[in-house]
Amino acid sequence: MANNADVEQLAHQFAEFLKKKKYRNTQERNKVIERIAELDEHFNADELYLYMNAKGDKVSRATIYSTLDLLTQCHILMKHRFQGESAHFELASRMPNHDHLICVECGRIVEFREKSIDAISVSVSKEFGFKRIRHSLQVFAVCHDPTSCEHNTQD
Ligand SMILES: [Zn+2]
Ligand SMILES: [Zn+2]
Repeated sequence: MANNADVEQLAHQFAEFLKKKKYRNTQERNKVIERIAELDEHFNADELYLYMNAKGDKVSRATIYSTLDLLTQCHILMKHRFQGESAHFELASRMPNHDHLICVECGRIVEFREKSIDAISVSVSKEFGFKRIRHSLQVFAVCHDPTSCEHNTQD
């Protein structure tokens, strides 16, 4: 769970970005950041909209979409295209050390950490004359969640 200091820092970073781009900073946009920090996991635009609705926030879908776009532009959010139509987002500050396992049947996402993958991304970069900045790995598989995964019924 992100703490209040994180939210303030994110809001500050976002405000600076909006000022530079001459976009308006609004209550709604700040509320979106606050709720994202509360969620502290992957989400798509619809899931965030439903979450904010349930919390009683008066924020339109259009505002959520445009705010997610701006938060991605200023690198507060990472945008993932795991599979299917909708993009998933997560706070960039969560990212450095994890990769993703994605179930191709039910869409379940699991985060994992594996030091050797990180080391490989560094050595491969070096081998081809690059300096590694970060890596992002997605492993597509089928999971064994008996409650939600369709694949499981075939076992
Ligand atoms: Zn993640
Ligand atoms: Zn599954």
